[in-house]
Amino acid sequence: MYRRVGRGATLPPYPVSSAPDSIPASPVVRPSACPGLVRVVTAADGGLCRIKLPGGRLDARQARAIAAAARACGSGAIDATNRANLQLRGIRADAADALIRALLDAGLGPSVDATEDAVADTAALAASDDVRNVMLSPLAGDDPAALVDSRALAAPLLDMLAREPRRGELSPKFSIQLDGGESVAALDHPHDIWLAAWRRGDGAVRIAAGLAGCPPVAHDARPASVDVAPDQGVALVRALLLAFLDLAPADVTRMRALLATCGERALLERARHYVPFALAADPALAGWRRARTDPALRFGVHPSRDAARCHVGAQFPLGRLDATQLERLAALAETDGDGTLSMTPWQGVFMHRVPRERAPATLDALASLGLVCASSDPLASLVACTGSAGCAKARADTKHDALALAARIGHAADVHLTGCERHCALPHPATHTLVAVAPAHYDLYRRDAAAGLGAPLARHLTIDQAAARLTGMRHSQDTTDA
Ligand code: SF4
Repeated sequence: MYRRVGRGATLPPYPVSSAPDSIPASPVVRPSACPGLVRVVTAADGGLCRIKLPGGRLDARQARAIAAAARACGSGAIDATNRANLQLRGIRADAADALIRALLDAGLGPSVDATEDAVADTAALAASDDVRNVMLSPLAGDDPAALVDSRALAAPLLDMLAREPRRGELSPKFSIQLDGGESVAALDHPHDIWLAAWRRGDGAVRIAAGLAGCPPVAHDARPASVDVAPDQGVALVRALLLAFLDLAPADVTRMRALLATCGERALLERARHYVPFALAADPALAGWRRARTDPALRFGVHPSRDAARCHVGAQFPLGRLDATQLERLAALAETDGDGTLSMTPWQGVFMHRVPRERAPATLDALASLGLVCASSDPLASLVACTGSAGCAKARADTKHDALALAARIGHAADVHLTGCERHCALPHPATHTLVAVAPAHYDLYRRDAAAGLGAPLARHLTIDQAAARLTGMRHSQDTTDA
């Protein structure tokens, strides 16, 4: 039995093992209210459609298709998400079918062959779409600092996920990180499974893997659980996610919750049933730490493997763009780069393979489109959730308030404004968090060693008061008074 890859081509089956006897006879259902490409969900400002981009990458033609669909079927507003995806807002109920068709026609769903037997089956199509949560560096595949070409490694991983018969049992939130050692990478977004390239003492590049976390950076971080050869990475991920599905009750959607009850050892023991190779960790991994990255590198010019070309990055203010900006970015990618764009987990974008001499003009063009192009910009590390303009749960218009806060602060500050306690916009605590308690009023927290948002600093602040506190703390390292 062979699996199809593209029309007519075949590959051997995925390594299948002696499957455990107790695999559930009927699949577990983990219903989701998350938006997806074929699951347009209702928000306060209309329908919400999330487009999962493989590794955050899309080409100019797809960017134009998204912009046209956003304008024709919705409000034209687009979110850049913290998983390097795009989300269309304000979709009219009578336009959802046309939107989905337009996006599938642009190749923005799971690969066509993966869905050709299931295109009439919305549930199967949604399952193939939901599992496409593989986080890569925006520079993946073309970064001189990387140990592996993680874009090449991700392709068969995405293929496996889209075809795995049990994919429909996974929550759409279940996520995987594949870190090739690039100079620009998100190392603080926890993932259910993470993979990271590392170089062993004998010089061999291996793939380390861990569960419910991130590649270890700090000295006290949890080290990798196993490591494998790069060509075993897909089989490893499949084994880990099947082991998760075998062991997780229906109400457990994430790896962290499962490990809290069954432990890592049981999970790995289960995974061993699904791989034809040993699952073990090189002893040296206990001391291996992934090199830190500099957040400032998300902006500006970066080398590519081709010395004559570079990548150019910037961020969308508060993660929001519109159809016209996306069309102009598509045009810029074609005139200045290789015609592709990478969305980033910091709600930004990279242009690729821009001629070195052209890079300053490209950066100017991004700035003229309203993007944040320097880490010193007051909006560079300010994050705000959708807020009351688009979310019924919000107690304040967080994006409006964030713009006011940035104008008053006048310097870069690692601050997250959230409209309620769900903190959708940021998967890890910022240095400071403002939690809305009423329109234009917030409680202020500062991150500390404890779990959660950290220490409460002040209650019911106006934006002016919050700005004064944040500016004052910058100068005096103020302490709590709450
Ligand atoms: S954090 Fe709360 S208010 Fe903000 S978008 Fe999420 S659910 Fe809505």
